[in-house]
Amino acid sequence: MLYPKEYGDDPWFPQAKDFKVVDKNGIEGKGIFCYKSFKKGELLAKIHGEVTQEITQHTLQIDETNHLLDLYFVGYLLHSCNPNVIVDMKNRTVRALRQIKANSFLYMDYASTEDVLYKQFQCSCGSANCRGWIHGKKEKPNNATKTGES
Ligand SMILES: [Zn+2]
Repeated sequence: MLYPKEYGDDPWFPQAKDFKVVDKNGIEGKGIFCYKSFKKGELLAKIHGEVTQEITQHTLQIDETNHLLDLYFVGYLLHSCNPNVIVDMKNRTVRALRQIKANSFLYMDYASTEDVLYKQFQCSCGSANCRGWIHGKKEKPNNATKTGES
């Protein structure tokens, strides 16, 4: 179990035998490594955390005012423009968007949950549909370089 005892003992909470939060490469920071394979559409885990009104690097948006702070699991999901998981913040689940092979990193699309990002960033996911500069779905990009202002 990756979550502390006070979060309860839901058997669907992420288990240490299936997932690990690891430092990916020192550039992108920590990510979630997955030891298990999953089929498309399959439930990976249920998530939990503390509800806060503050946006941080490790929160996911629940609704217009509330964010879930999870410092044990989902708060460390890396971003990709071609993600392999989707986080459902209403039902608090993580599901496979496509086949996930054992021993791979998990990726979500940050814009799928976030209106406003803690920090916009240049994506290096390398997927064919990479959007480049990543921002929340309700905010404008603030990258000066892209508009030629740098
Ligand atoms: Zn990308």
